[in-house]
Amino acid sequence: MKPFKLIKEFKFCPNCHSKDRYIEKLVKEELEAKHILPGGVPSLTIIEGNVSDPRVLPSLPLGSTFPVYAVITDVCLNCGTIYATQIHQSEGEIKANIDLIVPGREGGLPKFPGSDKPQHN
Ligand SMILES: [Zn+2]
Repeated sequence: MKPFKLIKEFKFCPNCHSKDRYIEKLVKEELEAKHILPGGVPSLTIIEGNVSDPRVLPSLPLGSTFPVYAVITDVCLNCGTIYATQIHQSEGEIKANIDLIVPGREGGLPKFPGSDKPQHN
């Protein structure tokens, strides 16, 4: 998967327009105390997902891509609204599912006693 890129940032609360954020404040305090290292993004939650359809995904050609997202939230210290502070996007890619064909094994997966179907471990 490609690295995530920042595509949108929200600098203030959409409800009261305050720029004071709870997690951001905690991170600043911990950075000053040298309890954490710089470089992270303050986040109450990070919601990750993708836009794909499992009914269609298996039929797409190898190398096909689909959007993958990460939405980062924080909470407003003035009014308590939880809101997205950053939206990041990347691309997922359809890759080959490598299944080794071993002589004596159907589909490369071992059969278990009493089973006529290949089993996953
Ligand atoms: Zn607010």
